[in-house]
Amino acid sequence: MAGKITLTMIKPGAFRKGHTGPILNMIKEAGFRIIAMKLTKLSTKQAEEFYAIHRSKPFYNSLVDFMSSGPIIAAVLEKESAVDDYRQLIGATNPENAEEGTIRKKYAESLEMNAVHGSDSDENANLEADFFFAKSERTDCM
Ligand code: ATP
Ligand code: MG
Repeated sequence: MAGKITLTMIKPGAFRKGHTGPILNMIKEAGFRIIAMKLTKLSTKQAEEFYAIHRSKPFYNSLVDFMSSGPIIAAVLEKESAVDDYRQLIGATNPENAEEGTIRKKYAESLEMNAVHGSDSDENANLEADFFFAKSERTDCM
């Protein structure tokens, strides 16, 4: 049965360290279906736009530099309660607070380089999916 969607990125640090395969395996084992995926790299402008909500934060420029520092994997994941269940699977933003068995606990290097992104609402999941993917690139729209 079709579920809701969430948007994830495997961030440049985790990609560089070769954690893509194990992270995708955790995503699969947790019952998510990948309905779109690509290897890409964010330009400075794209990273600024994606994280525009954090523009006023002291970490914004550093975050934008990091997020545009190398390749990422972007993917749309489908599951019932996709947003909440994926936030559960990735763990707390700060890996020091992330629970055992979560993606960030296993693969985050720091608060900034925290391995993966996960959408925080259904509305943002749809906006973020559209940020990366044309409808023709999503198997649920084919
Ligand atoms: P994401 O949106 O990447 O899934 P999140 O929703 O858990 O993460 P946000 O509050 O949206 O957390 O922060 C976006 C990203 O900014 C974090 O994932 C992290 O990479 C970075 N970040 C957040 N707070 C800090 C901070 N205090 N110092 C440095 N980087 C931070
Ligand atoms: Mg967020």
